Amino acid sequence: MTTRPLIFTDIDGTLLDHFDYSFSHAIEVIEALNERQIPIIANTSKTFAEMTKLQQTVGFNSPFISENGAVIYIPIGYFAQQPEDTFTQGYYWVKEFSQPREYWLKLLNEQAQAFKNDFVGFSSLSVEELCELTDLSPDNAKLALVRHYAEPLLWKGDETSKQAFIKLMTSVGAHTLQGGRFLHVGGDTDKGKAMKWLADVYTKQYGTPVTTVALGDSGNDNAMLEAADIAIQIKSPTHEFPTLTTNKKTIKSTEYGPKGWAECINKTLLSSSVESQNNPLSSEGA
Ligand SMILES: [Mg+2]
Repeated sequence: MTTRPLIFTDIDGTLLDHFDYSFSHAIEVIEALNERQIPIIANTSKTFAEMTKLQQTVGFNSPFISENGAVIYIPIGYFAQQPEDTFTQGYYWVKEFSQPREYWLKLLNEQAQAFKNDFVGFSSLSVEELCELTDLSPDNAKLALVRHYAEPLLWKGDETSKQAFIKLMTSVGAHTLQGGRFLHVGGDTDKGKAMKWLADVYTKQYGTPVTTVALGDSGNDNAMLEAADIAIQIKSPTHEFPTLTTNKKTIKSTEYGPKGWAECINKTLLSSSVESQNNPLSSEGA
């Protein structure tokens, strides 16, 4: 029986360039995947508001995983049946993995007073301040601030205070995750758990096994990369490749960001030499 590939991809620094947020180098490959009906599922720290805009820009109509695995949005009707344990919200079936952001803001306020000069949370940032920190446009910064499940922090203190803070927050039931620019405080969620849940839904709905191919550039992608059948690490201009703990096939890109994305998808899923060897990853009918 052939397996069907599913691509789970980080967005910032992976599908989008770290500096200019462009995905132009990946367009041809995205089109080739669309032709083969291989789903591309964003798995990102980005918000619902950012992702709905990006899905339109990139031309994705697949489900997406938002806020570091805290929530999955599946377009209504994407599967023949509404997946179990989801609820309907707007145009989406929604699967949640975390308490709401308000819960984590309250916890930070109650527990982390000793560190209040060491970080700035998104909740206290203005659109202008976020623009300065991230090079996002004002419109995109506005969308980035509308978070529902976790609080990203810009760490201003030193590494020692950061580790003490992480220890404290962990002891009161919060989970921390270092992204490309921000330290996220929220529920015990990660991109890997959400990916596994969604891959199971695909398996049930397709009635065939799936092969998960995951792409990411940062430490917050490790859980996804380690849980994937094929892990692809995208080279970053700002840091080394994070260390993965996995026995499965791992590929490292030689190019940065979207160029590396295209390079590795080409190598793994699209190159004719791979297909001619009867690659089990070829999409159904290919
Ligand atoms: Mg990234």
